[in-house]
Parts: sequence; structure tokens; C-alpha cells
Amino acid sequence: MTGRADPGAAGDVEMSAIPKVLVIGLDALTPRLVEEWIAEGRLPNLGKFLSQGAWGALNSVPNRNSAPAWSTMVTGLNPGKHGIYWFTEDNPESYDYKFVNGSFRRGKAFWNVLSEEKQQVGIVNVPLTFPAETVNGTMVAGLDSPSVDHPNFTYPPDLRTEVKEAAGGEYHVHPALAQYVVAGKIDEGLDRLHNSIDKRSAVAKHLMSTRPWDAFMVVFTESDVVQHFFWRHMANPSPGDSSRAINAIRGTYEHLDRVVGELIELAGDDTVHVVVSDHGARYDHGLARALPSWLEQLGLLSYRDESRRTGLRPFMVGTASKLYRQVDKRLPSEIKHKLSGRLPWIHRRMQVMMSFAKLDWAKTQAYTDGQRPEIWVNLKGRQSQGIVAPEDYERVRQEMIDRLSSAVCSTTGKPLVRRVMRREDVYSGPYVDRSPDLIVEWMDEGACLDIRYPDGTELSLTKQHLPDDPYDRLLNGGHDQHGIVGIIGPGVRRASLQDAQIADIAPTVLYLRDAPIPEDLDGVVLEAAIEPQLLESRKGKTGGSAVRQDGDDAGYSEEEAAEVHDRLQALGYVE
Ligand SMILES: [Zn+2]
Repeated sequence: MTGRADPGAAGDVEMSAIPKVLVIGLDALTPRLVEEWIAEGRLPNLGKFLSQGAWGALNSVPNRNSAPAWSTMVTGLNPGKHGIYWFTEDNPESYDYKFVNGSFRRGKAFWNVLSEEKQQVGIVNVPLTFPAETVNGTMVAGLDSPSVDHPNFTYPPDLRTEVKEAAGGEYHVHPALAQYVVAGKIDEGLDRLHNSIDKRSAVAKHLMSTRPWDAFMVVFTESDVVQHFFWRHMANPSPGDSSRAINAIRGTYEHLDRVVGELIELAGDDTVHVVVSDHGARYDHGLARALPSWLEQLGLLSYRDESRRTGLRPFMVGTASKLYRQVDKRLPSEIKHKLSGRLPWIHRRMQVMMSFAKLDWAKTQAYTDGQRPEIWVNLKGRQSQGIVAPEDYERVRQEMIDRLSSAVCSTTGKPLVRRVMRREDVYSGPYVDRSPDLIVEWMDEGACLDIRYPDGTELSLTKQHLPDDPYDRLLNGGHDQHGIVGIIGPGVRRASLQDAQIADIAPTVLYLRDAPIPEDLDGVVLEAAIEPQLLESRKGKTGGSAVRQDGDDAGYSEEEAAEVHDRLQALGYVE
């Protein structure tokens, strides 16, 4: 090896050795809070990454959703290549959707590449990894798992018994905070959340100490859910808020920091440690939920008068909406709350079916579900009741881009939208057409539902335009564009990472493990984090493709119905 003046110098590393890599995912950890609490000495372990390692903000996927974000993180591919855009996949033809899981991912994760290279991996709780994949090692699937008793919850299948034992008899695939918050049981909910962190950490430690591994990844989603429900308590507390509620987010960050310390100690000094979050967190101003009303007031979306007058009479085709109506009638509200707590997006997605049933498609040029910051054009030839002619598609998109982008808050005069993105401008690859046509990026300013346009027109999206639902009312935290990345260990240098992208994590892990990096990745190795000697000695291998072309969605409707039904059945809500 050349370029090493003194092989024995302090801080030097043995370049021929390939360090193990431990990736700790902390969902929605947000740079501003982390850095503020590091400065206060509250997060000593994350503080080491900042002061001694490579550290920076990590740019998430355009719609900031956890499902595509983690999928991009572990594959190095943009959503146009791995095909996952949300926890559900839309079928524009029928205005319907299906729930997705890890089997919908069309790209190889870094653990698939490492397994092919005969390297040993351990993977715990990465979102969208159900059914657990056959890897050279172990996998405990993530929050898309219908049940911890399902044979596909773990690989190998019999590992699930060991997971439960390691977790003290019961393992929580999801902290289920929502159901407690909806019921007003904040202390119990937070107890369960911390308990859930301990259980996940115990399972990770168990697998790290009982199996050999070259790369290990565990994700904690508790930091995401706590911010969704307690952002207001932290940022703008009410007199009635308990100190536990006010400090719920900080307490979760502190707990996770202790877990990070324990895991990196267990992994040892010969390991490169990586901490990452899939996006940040911020106040949720509710504009996405008001977006359907916004489109209505722009004359682009229209409700059937009948549904306004007589209440809901859904006529939608699609088994999912029928199923929902059936379930909705039969379920006591307490169970519905429970469902919303277990898998909130299932509950919320069901509301979408109900809201779409009220639309007059013959007068609707564009629509959105009130949850995603994304808009579909109701296009002739694509949607079954599409009305926008293909030659008008771009004009309708441009009109929305112009109108939304020029809107300001009436009271402050500040813009509400940073930009509106065309899907093909931010995604590339064979699965771009799974994305809605436009993606809206809001400004970071707080709530404002009173809108003014340059021509003086005003719109008021008052509370009555927001869905009246206990879950929605309690949600007050949303996702921010940037998460964090911190890297420390042998071969890693102290650096302030600029412009790190979420797709850069997978190639960086593969590089550190000296494994081939697929040629069609969108991410690149975070070279700024790596010691020059290591960069010089290890040129990096490339080879192969990470994008899978297989798996077209023939038989969509039946598959969709089965998917929804199976999930609900697994949760005990339908027979
Ligand atoms: Zn997330």
C-alpha cells in the first residue's frame, strides 16, 4: 500500500481490513432538534458522530414519505426505479389503491448485494421488508408485517420465536402510540412507546451477539410517531399539557441516544457506525388535508351535489371501498380507533375511498386524497372516468403549478408553496408512472389556511375543510425535507457532509464493505466521509443492475382486494 508515511500513527487504520458496518435508522430524527440537544449535552452518543465523525443533513425523497424514503435509503435508487411511492400504490384507472409491502420493491437492497457476495447480514425493522427476504443471515421484517406470528415475519421463519423471547415475551412491530393518544391515555402511550424501543433494541442486541455479521441494520420508528402527535406540545404548549407531553419528543430522542450508545459499544471499535434518518420533522400545517378543497375552489375538482345533500352514498367500483363500508358499519368506534393506532395509514387510506366516492368525476380535472402532497390529473384514457384530453395534460399541470406556487398567506403575505414538481422532473426509471402527476413542496412556515393570489382572489380553507376525524385532529407534526446522517469508525474522517442524498447510503455501505456497487444506482459513495488513504487503496467495485424489471401488476383488482382483506383479517377486523 502506498501513501502511508507511518503505518503505526495514532488514528491510523489498517486499510486491508474491511470493517463491519452497523446502520442505525432513527425515523424522522430532525437535524435542528438533534443539534440543539447535542449542544445541551442531552445526546452524548449522537454528539460523538457530530464532533468526531462525518455529519450532515440528509436530503429525503421529494414527497418525504417513509415508505419510499427507506426504500431509497437501502437500495440507492430513486422511487422511479424501485417503484414505491407511499404505503399504498394507486391504480389511477379505477381510482383505487392497494397496500404495498416489501415484495413491491423492484430494487435490490444493499443486503441483497451483500448476501450474493456471501457477506453476512442482520436486518431488523426496516420499513417495507415484509415478507422477510431470504438473506445470508437474519431479517426481522418491519412495520408492514401483518403479525409477529406470521411465518414470513422473520428469516429464517423459526427466528420469530427467538425474537419474542429476546423481547421479553412480546415484540411490538409498531409502537401503537396513536390508539392511546386518541383515547387520551398519554402516559400509557408513552410508556408503551419506550417499551417498544427497549424491545427492539433487545432484539437487535440479541442478533448482534448470537450471529456473525458483516453488516447490521436496525430501524427505530418510535421517533417518527411521537413527533406526529407531540410536536404541538413541544413547539406551542397549552396550559393543560403535562410536562410528560411537552417533553415527549425530547425524551424519545434521549432514549434513542442511549440505545445508539449501547449498540455501538456492542458492535465494537472495528465497526463503522452509521446513524441515519429518512426525513426530518416539523409542524404540520394541514395544507395537504385542505388540498382537495383548494382544488375545488380553483374549479378543478367537483363534488356530486347529491353527496353534499344526502351524506355519503358511495357508488365507487372497487372491492376495497365495499369492504370498507362493510367494515365501517360493523365496527364499534373503539375498534376503529384501535385500527388507526395499529396501522394509521390503513385507517386514513380508508377515508380516501370515502372522499373519492363523493367526487363528480365528470367535472373533476385533478384530484388528491387529502393526505399526500400529491395530485393526479384526471386524464382521458388513463382514468376510467378521465376528462382531461392528453393534449391538455400539460396545460392543466402548468395551471396548477402557477396557481399553487403564486399563493401567499393572506395574513403574513408569505408564500405557502416552495415548488410544485412534475413527476418526471424528480423521478426517473421504469416506474415513474406509479407516481401522481404533481408533487407539492410546502414552505416551512406554520399554519395558514387563508390564501391570496396575485390577482387579489382570496380563498379560505377553514377548519371545516379539514376532515373531522379524531386521528387527523390529533396529528400536528409532519415531515421535513432533511434527515440526518452521521458516520464514525475506522476509515472514516471528520467531515461536514454537504448535500448528502438519501440514495447515497446504500452505495456507501457497499463501498465500506468492499462489495460491488450496482451501476444503475442514483446515489453515490459519500467520499467526503472517507479517509483519503482508504479512497486511494480501495477504488470500489461496480457491477450489475439493482433495478428489477419483473413483477408486472396483472390481476390488479383481485390482488388488491386480497391484500386489503388479508391485512384487516390479520388485525382481527374482518372474518
Ligand atoms: Zn419516516
